[in-house]
Amino acid sequence: MPDFCKQQLRKGFMTFRCSKKASRDGYCGVHHPDAKKARREKQDAKWNATRAKWEWQEEERKAIAFVVQAAVEWERGESPEELLRQAVASLKRARIGLRSATFGVGASQP
Ligand SMILES: [Zn+2]
Repeated sequence: MPDFCKQQLRKGFMTFRCSKKASRDGYCGVHHPDAKKARREKQDAKWNATRAKWEWQEEERKAIAFVVQAAVEWERGESPEELLRQAVASLKRARIGLRSATFGVGASQP
């Protein structure tokens, strides 16, 4: 007798069994717990990368505002040049972070 995947599926109020053949541990390739776990991990990694990118975009936005404010204040003689240098440094950091989050370097780190 052919062994079918033991995964129960739902469609509205109907419950039925997966119609694919079982290939491992009574599950098909799609419904095996390892395959589900791998898909979930892939999704999580993708989401984490997206979130990291958003966070760096927010950092960049704040850093730009900081640079503008520090430059205006420095021009008026209200704040030291050192503050402007710090603002520029924070903008550079944000852009490095954004670049690595966008192109994958360290993108999956929490
Ligand atoms: Zn299945």
